[in-house]
Formats: sequence, C-alpha cells, structure tokens
Amino acid sequence: MKTSFEGFSPVRRDRMVQEERHDAYQAKHKLAEPTVCPDCGAVFHEGRWQWLVKPAGAHQERCPACSRIHDQYPAGYLTVSGEFFSQHRDELLHLLRNEAERAKAEHPLKRIMQIEDEKDGVLVTTTDIHLARGLGEALHHAYQGTLEYHYNERENLLRVVWER
Ligand SMILES: [Zn+2]
Repeated sequence: MKTSFEGFSPVRRDRMVQEERHDAYQAKHKLAEPTVCPDCGAVFHEGRWQWLVKPAGAHQERCPACSRIHDQYPAGYLTVSGEFFSQHRDELLHLLRNEAERAKAEHPLKRIMQIEDEKDGVLVTTTDIHLARGLGEALHHAYQGTLEYHYNERENLLRVVWER
C-alpha cells in the first residue's frame, strides 16, 4: 500500500466489510411509508428506497443519496490514475459511467456524485461506499492494475485507489 489517507486504514480487499453499517445519512427516525424524495423521485417502500411510480399522498423527505449530494459529502471516493488510464481515459470513464448507471437502476442510493480531474487522473465520488468498491472492482476486472481499499470505520467512508 503506497497511499495513505488521514482517518482511513488500508484494508485487504478480501476483508472489506460486507455488511451495512450505521450510516449518518440513514434517517434518524423511522420513515413513514410511502415517502417520496422531492429531488430524485425515489420512493421509500417496504423498508428501502426504490424506483417506483410516485404513490398518491406520499410523505416527502430527501433520500440519503440526495442528502449527500446536497451536502456535498460523499461516502465513497475512487481515485483512478496512471499511464494506462491517460491513454484510455474515455474508454475507462465510459466503463465507470455504465457501471454506475447499472447500479443506480437497481439501487437508487448508489450514484456517482462527481468525476473531477486531478493532477494525474480523476477522482470519482459516490453516494455509497459499495458503489465506489464496485467501480474499483469493475476496473480491476476489465484492466487488472492495482486496487487498494482504505476504510474509515468511524464515519463509514471508503477510499478506493486504482492505478495502471
Ligand atoms: Zn433522492
């Protein structure tokens, strides 16, 4: 592991936590059902956020993903860099966007927030740590390279570093 982030500890990929942990962006109270997010239109139904037709008379409350977007507070960070990335930038970004679209279609709370240019690559921020991880895995699966995870357990944040 050559990268380090304050507040984050390197974690082996096969040890990465699978379970859902406490998340500051989960509602503090039990949400009434149905509740609709006014920003994205996702519907809270049967205990989870889903893409459904907006039910009549639904309560309104911003979903955790839109709250993170509103606060500009990502849960996942994916750093993508390296010579190979520079040479195949469009192709790799296309793969990431496709992967994110697929995840979002299934899980309204899994979204890319931003793709920002950095010195020698890009930083992709996500509303969900599992998406950041899934994007890193997708790059690794398609193009090998090196993949690192750094986890902040206290705040349940994940930094994924992919390089090739
Ligand atoms: Zn929303």
